[in-house]
Amino acid sequence: MSETTETIFSKIIRREIPANIVYEDDLALAFTDVNPQAPVHILVIPKKPLAKLADAESQDHALLGHLLLTVKRVAEAAGLDNGYRVVINNGVDGGQTVYHLHLHILGGRQMAWPPG
Ligand code: AMP
Repeated sequence: MSETTETIFSKIIRREIPANIVYEDDLALAFTDVNPQAPVHILVIPKKPLAKLADAESQDHALLGHLLLTVKRVAEAAGLDNGYRVVINNGVDGGQTVYHLHLHILGGRQMAWPPG
């Protein structure tokens, strides 16, 4: 898995490929996952091409906070009043497949623990 900053998510940000975008602001974008693992499965990404959480630095402090608050906002808008799960897969062992940081919002059913 290559760790370039140019990914399919960069193309979604630039509107070069279609996505079902549910939220956008200056720093973040949210769109539905193309292969949903729950009745509601939305990805929240920074517009900045940060490959993975482990690459974040102190200068990304505010951005990371913004992404979590965006998760909250998007989840509320999606009607996930009964709860939801937020997942960040980081690197190979984390099961990350797209090397542009993204936060999964999963909801609309009871989640199991531990995850696989
Ligand atoms: P991860 O395994 O954490 O890297 O998650 C990558 C996620 O991106 C997966 O859940 C994919 O289904 C999703 N995905 C990949 N390509 C697209 C796309 N073009 N539009 C929406 N979601 C995508």
